[in-house]
Amino acid sequence: MSKIMDGKLVSQKVRNEIKDEVSRLGIKPHLAVVIVGTDAASQTYVNNKHKACHDVGFQSTKIELPAQTTEEELLQVIDKLNADKGVHGILVQLPLPKHIKESVVLEAIDQEKDVDGFHPYQVGLLATGLDGFKPCTAAGVIEILKHYEVPMEGSHAVIVGRSHIVGKPLIQLLLDENATVTVAHSRTKDLASVTKLADIVIVAVGIPGILTADMVKEGAVVVDVGINRLDTGKLVGDVDFEPVMEKASLITPVPGGVGPMTITMLLANTLKSAKKVK
Ligand code: NDP
Repeated sequence: MSKIMDGKLVSQKVRNEIKDEVSRLGIKPHLAVVIVGTDAASQTYVNNKHKACHDVGFQSTKIELPAQTTEEELLQVIDKLNADKGVHGILVQLPLPKHIKESVVLEAIDQEKDVDGFHPYQVGLLATGLDGFKPCTAAGVIEILKHYEVPMEGSHAVIVGRSHIVGKPLIQLLLDENATVTVAHSRTKDLASVTKLADIVIVAVGIPGILTADMVKEGAVVVDVGINRLDTGKLVGDVDFEPVMEKASLITPVPGGVGPMTITMLLANTLKSAKKVK
C-alpha cells in the first residue's frame, strides 16, 4: 500500500464537489484578490488562485497595485470591495511592502468576507469553537488527514511551528478533532524528544529537512507543510523525505501534498461566504 497522502487527489475531489455545488447555486461566488507590488512568488500564487476560481465556476477579480501604493490607498480599495455586495471573498496577498502595516490591512477586511480567516474576529470564532472561515492551509491539513482516515481522536499530534497562518490555527483544529496537541518552535529544547512522541507530526517551519528519520516514531503519520526552493531550483519541504518515509505509515510529499489544498480550502471558504449572502 502506498504511504503517500496525495494532496492533488484530495484537492481534486474537493474541487469537484465545489464545482457541482456552484452549478446548482444560482450565483457565481466571487473572490477578489489584491496584490501590491511585483514579487514573483506572490504573482504566481495570485495567478494560481485566479485560475482555480475559473476552474470551479467562480468569478475572480485580480486587483494589481504598484509597490509604492500607500496604506491609505490600499485601505480605500478594501473599503470599496467591502461595500460591493457582489464580492463574497477578499484576499490580500501577503507579504505586503514594508511601508504597509499588515495587521491594519487585514483588520480592514469585512469579517464576513475574510476568506483567508486571518481577521482577529475569525481567529476568535476559531478559538471559541464557533463557525467561521478556517485558515486555508491548516484546514487543508485536516482535510487530508480525514481523507486518509488518520485517527485523530486521542492521538498525540505534534505541530512544529507556531505561525499565525499555519501552526496556531492547527492547534485549535486538532483540538476540535480531540487530538492531544503539543506545539514546538524555535525555542523548544531538544526538538527530537518532542517529535518522537508524536502519532501525527506536522512540520511548518521553512527549513529544508529539519525533520529527520531519527526524530520520528515508527509508524507515525507525517505532514509536511514546508515549501522551500533550493539553490538548484528544486522545491522541497521541511521533511527529509525518503528516510522519514521509511519509518512513517503515511506522509505528504512536497510538492503535491499540503500545497494544492491551500487554494482548495480558499475556494471552499468563498463558496461558504457566497451561500450566506444568497
Ligand atoms: P513562519 O516563518 O511564520 O513560522 C515558522 C515557524 O517555525 C515559527 O513558529 C518558528 O518558531 C518555527 N521555527 C523556526 N526555526 C525552528 C527550529 N529550528 N525548530 C523548530 N521550530 C522552528 O512560517 P510559516 O508558518 O508562514 O510557513 C512555514 C513553512 O510552510 C514555510 O516553508 C512556508 O513556505 C510553508 N507554507 C506552506 C503553505 C502551503 O500552502 N503548503 C502555506 C503557508 C506556508 P518561532 O515562532 O519561535 O520563531
